[in-house]
Amino acid sequence: METAARTAPAAVIVAIDGPAGTGKSSTSKAVAAKLGLGYLDTGAQYRAITWWMVANGIDVEDAVAVADAAGKPAIVSGTDPANPTITVDGTDVSGPIRTQEVTSRVSAVSAVPEVRTVITELQRTIAAEAPRGIVVEGRDIGTTVLPDADLKVFLTASPEVRAARRSGELKGKEAGDLASTQAALAKRDALDSGRKTSPLAKADDAVEVDTSELTLDQVIECVVTLVEEKRTVA
Ligand code: C5P
Repeated sequence: METAARTAPAAVIVAIDGPAGTGKSSTSKAVAAKLGLGYLDTGAQYRAITWWMVANGIDVEDAVAVADAAGKPAIVSGTDPANPTITVDGTDVSGPIRTQEVTSRVSAVSAVPEVRTVITELQRTIAAEAPRGIVVEGRDIGTTVLPDADLKVFLTASPEVRAARRSGELKGKEAGDLASTQAALAKRDALDSGRKTSPLAKADDAVEVDTSELTLDQVIECVVTLVEEKRTVA
């Protein structure tokens, strides 16, 4: 028994934070797949609860109404990096949570402390139950959700690069011009960084990686190397 315990790789928890358009999702999914870890997109959870609020006619600017409803929807995240899923009360919402309607309201909902309490609890449970470990991406993972993570990475990129990447991801009607995408990102950043409860922030012990001049493969390689270094030291 003792030998088995010694040879089994310890579960590793990786926190990847940063603003939108820095490559968090693509990087996190690929790192998790390469290392055989689970993957959790915490932004999708905040989007899912926002989608539920909108679908149920709750005014997202009414923090009291949002707080009262925070515990009602059952949000379930699938953590396979090859097929991450998200459901609300059993309904697949992976498409609807990416609409402009949800994107423009998510910062208001995620700023409500009761919402953060519910979602943070969910995130900690998922991370604790991941058998081989997990890559968790978001805004406050290294600072608040998983402050004891084995590795914390904070991704950044210039506003121009982030807007160009985000425009490339949006299709058809949803894609405005570059300037309006950049303005929308800046507005969301300001709301996410300025809120009182667990704002978007770099943890003191996070490794900052500026992805502006890097390809996605280079960012993935960089994070995989950082995880392997941590594992070697441990
Ligand atoms: O990552 P994504 O852009 O999908 O996140 C959507 C929104 O969810 C963010 O703008 C932020 O308001 C909220 N969020 C958060 N904390 C996290 C992850 C996302 O407040 N850990």
